Amino acid sequence: MVTGGSRGIGRAVVDRALAGGDRVVVLARSAAGSDRPAGRVLALAVDVADPASVAAAFEQLDGPVDVLVNSAGVHRGGLVEQVGDAAWNEVLATNLTGAFTVVRAARPLLVAGSAVVNIGAVVGLRGFAGDVAYGSAKAGLSGLTQTLAIELARDGIRVNLVVPGFVETDMTDGIPAAARERIVAGIPLGRPGRAAEIADVVWSVAGSSYMTGSTVAVDGGLLASFGAPARRVRDRAGG
Ligand code: NAP
Repeated sequence: MVTGGSRGIGRAVVDRALAGGDRVVVLARSAAGSDRPAGRVLALAVDVADPASVAAAFEQLDGPVDVLVNSAGVHRGGLVEQVGDAAWNEVLATNLTGAFTVVRAARPLLVAGSAVVNIGAVVGLRGFAGDVAYGSAKAGLSGLTQTLAIELARDGIRVNLVVPGFVETDMTDGIPAAARERIVAGIPLGRPGRAAEIADVVWSVAGSSYMTGSTVAVDGGLLASFGAPARRVRDRAGG
């Protein structure tokens, strides 16, 4: 089951699951009428920010759910004085409350051996000016992940957080060229990530039978560096 499975990282996770022969439930606002192979994908139009929409979808579902990936997310940037209530509430409702609402609804369908993977963000673990709402929501996801890991461990259900760095998707498409160049210059590996590279890690974490409550970065080295020095090292090496 993949929230936000219609596009970007979520879609790459769906592709990964289908390649392995699994059946997938996709939950996203535009999910209905998906072009996936018939019979192996159930695509339901769900707004994770709306608990009634989530509840209605789960009335149609039965378990067990082996893997639940919470990838649905939105980004609204802005400094603290620029972020209005609507943007703050949308970001929190989608990225944080949405994950909580979906896990709560899915809880009866999760069984021993099931895995939940939440998709965090580097800015949920490190401060980044202009990401007050998004960073707060993703930091909350970190607390949600660890709490759920402890609560669900007794039933053999694992919960982990995968933290992508800067990944080429619709979410990052609209970033102005100059800002994008600055961000990429701070990535030690010198390039954005691809959705499939994140999906590979999500899949590996989901299948790791002794991992729970963990935070796994897949970020080209972003979390390990101060940003600008990464470029200096490459420049000095002539790379
Ligand atoms: P994306 O390409 O914009 O895809 C976002 C997905 O979330 C879409 O499938 C969208 O589907 C779904 N979604 C958004 N709001 C929703 C809602 N209210 N209810 C249900 N589904 C909703 O973004 P992405 O880059 O793949 O991001 C996926 C996850 O990775 C997000 O949690 C994001 O915060 C995180 N992330 C991304 C990056 C990055 O650099 N791209 C970095 C770190 C973390 P519909 O529009 O059809 O609803």
